[in-house]
Amino acid sequence: AINDDIVAPLPTTKSFPSVRYRNEETRKRILITGGAGFVGSHLVDKLMLDGHEVIALDNYFTGRKKNIEHWIGHPNFEMVHHDVVNPYFVEVDQIYHLASPASPPHYMYNPVKTIKTNTLGTINMLGLAKRVKATVLLASTSEVYGDPEVHPQPETYWGHVNTIGPRACYDEGKRVAESLMVAYNKQENVQIRIARIFNTFGPRMHMNDGRVVSNFIIQALQDKPITIYGNGTQTRSFQYVTDLVDGLIALMNSNYSLPVNIGNPEEHTIGQFATIIRDLIPGSTSEIINQESQQDDPQQRRPDIRRAAEQIQWRPQILMKDGLLKTIEYFRAEIDRNKRGGKP
Ligand code: NAD
Ligand code: UDP
Repeated sequence: AINDDIVAPLPTTKSFPSVRYRNEETRKRILITGGAGFVGSHLVDKLMLDGHEVIALDNYFTGRKKNIEHWIGHPNFEMVHHDVVNPYFVEVDQIYHLASPASPPHYMYNPVKTIKTNTLGTINMLGLAKRVKATVLLASTSEVYGDPEVHPQPETYWGHVNTIGPRACYDEGKRVAESLMVAYNKQENVQIRIARIFNTFGPRMHMNDGRVVSNFIIQALQDKPITIYGNGTQTRSFQYVTDLVDGLIALMNSNYSLPVNIGNPEEHTIGQFATIIRDLIPGSTSEIINQESQQDDPQQRRPDIRRAAEQIQWRPQILMKDGLLKTIEYFRAEIDRNKRGGKP
């Protein structure tokens, strides 16, 4: 409205977490695409607490306002409802480009849209970075290694992806996104960072996320069967979300432009993992069952994180068990809240 400036602000009783004070010189303007999602919202928290100005952009496909609602109304924070498939312009210093469904059932739900998000969305963010001279960090994935024949996976491994399989929309989408980053760097001198993120878990994962950590915890808490896809000998290595966020920030603020694995090398079979989760929930009577295996399911995955240690001085700090206990508490509370019809 034309008279916006003379309208008195609504009285508010909202209190915010206290944020660090920064002067103009060290305070950055930061765009986070996918900012209302699981990882994005934890990144919003860390950068807000550190005193930066944060713009979170999301189309709410899998993200939720609830994840960032504690910042809504804060003068350093802005939430933008937007789809990265369409161009977006804003003056920023840094762009964390996380927008993309991440869980297999979500990215397979609309494969064409997943490809558009990862290709057109990345072009749009690189175009923005070029125009405003921002540094852009891509949330890439260990999925670029496909079903790997090299173990553990170093960044120098080129991968083993089925271009026409059910995971291709995501895997190939992220592979093109990496190629786009490198091309814009070479051709347009855009400053780039590429984080290859390995399986991450923690509070704020969606109840219907469908990935293994949330599935197993929710099943164990509700005494429902814990569903192993296949025989459970496939492996994964899980990192806690705050470790990932620290790694992303360290990478962004380094001057390293080649891909860097960000993950926790502690590896388990999915069969072992089912027992670990059930044992952390005393009294759970869930049985562990085997279901049909998933097509093209990577059989082993563990990051080689020597590059992260050397180039950005990062290594994970949180023990899997401690992270799982926090995540179990989160889902316990979510299940209770759902029973009360979503009321706090
Ligand atoms: P998530 O689904 O919780 O978050 C993704 C966010 O992106 C959601 O808020 C969603 O609404 C938003 N989004 C999706 N499409 C969009 C579009 N077209 N326009 C705008 N917003 C859009 O998943 P997450 O686990 O937080 O993953 C975040 C990023 O990290 C993703 O890019 C994912 O590929 C990457 N990653 C995550 C993991 C992991 O284990 N969590 C592993 C590897 C890579
Ligand atoms: N998985 C499982 N049961 C589930 C969900 C997943 O056994 O309810 C398996 C899945 O087949 C894969 C591993 O757990 O081998 C990790 O799956 P997730 O979807 O979490 O992530 P991915 O690493 O496959 O992207």
